[in-house]
Amino acid sequence: MTGQVVVVGSANVDLVVDVPRHPGGGETILGGDLRRTPGGKGANSAVAAARAGGAETTFVGALGRDESAELLLASLERAGVRTDLVSRVDAPTGTALITVSPDGENAIVVAPGANARLELTAAQVERIAHADVVLAQLEIPLDMVRAAAAARRPGARMVLNAAPSQDLPGDVWDALDLLIVNEYEAADLAHTQAAPEELAAALLERVPAVVITLGAEGSLVAQRDREPVRVPGVKVDAVDTTGAGDTFCGVLAAGLARGLDLAGAARLAGAAAALAVTRPGAQDAVPTAAEVEESAK
Ligand code: ATP
Repeated sequence: MTGQVVVVGSANVDLVVDVPRHPGGGETILGGDLRRTPGGKGANSAVAAARAGGAETTFVGALGRDESAELLLASLERAGVRTDLVSRVDAPTGTALITVSPDGENAIVVAPGANARLELTAAQVERIAHADVVLAQLEIPLDMVRAAAAARRPGARMVLNAAPSQDLPGDVWDALDLLIVNEYEAADLAHTQAAPEELAAALLERVPAVVITLGAEGSLVAQRDREPVRVPGVKVDAVDTTGAGDTFCGVLAAGLARGLDLAGAARLAGAAAALAVTRPGAQDAVPTAAEVEESAK
């Protein structure tokens, strides 16, 4: 079965420098060579959904009219993502300024640029209306999450990866079929610190299904009226965890679109995300379905 996934979200160029330590206010330090790589939660997830196979993936987002936009389009197209409906706006393409310290800790500033100007067009709304799964994140205006949810057809699933963390208004909660969050985002949304099972139970009061990602520990899949399921992590030597969450969300969306149940899709997503953390970069690290299959042997 070939499903349709539409990812409505951000695209950023990541400007990455290794630093001996993160600079304080007013300080200048020398870092290593600059790396310029395609990123942004929406674009990363779209690449992951497309590489997972079994679903046709469209990216709906806004880019500027600059060289960064070309870098992102090339990366999306290399992965097989449909980019025919990407908006081009009079603002610089989104950019993330990232310093990485020797212990692997990232400090990140995002200049949203074009991402903040996303306004769904009639053609984008129509593509969303044909999707089986619509996946959004919070690096675009919340109104675009609302618009994407409103455009989906009956029976299609609206999935929100609620990252970066922010509180959600009631109407957005009501529009969701599935929430994907890491433990920190889950605690923020539940307004409490607790074990993942308790956080999931609290979130299920607002949304029918929740997946909480647990880093190397895998994920927790929770649905109303069912026992929660722990999907164990896949043991790997992590090199760079950038984009692990985005890979997880994209592969999970593709799995749902081709008819897997939620736990099955989360298992596949965990295997792909584990492979992604063994490689540097965000989009460049996302494995294909064949690579995931090979790694499971
Ligand atoms: P990030 O912000 O780094 O992209 P995140 O905080 O959104 O990630 P995580 O829970 O850290 O999300 O990771 C998402 C998924 O990726 C996990 O559920 C797991 O399946 C996989 N994963 C992440 N880190 C590891 C790891 N070290 N080993 C194996 N799998 C991992």
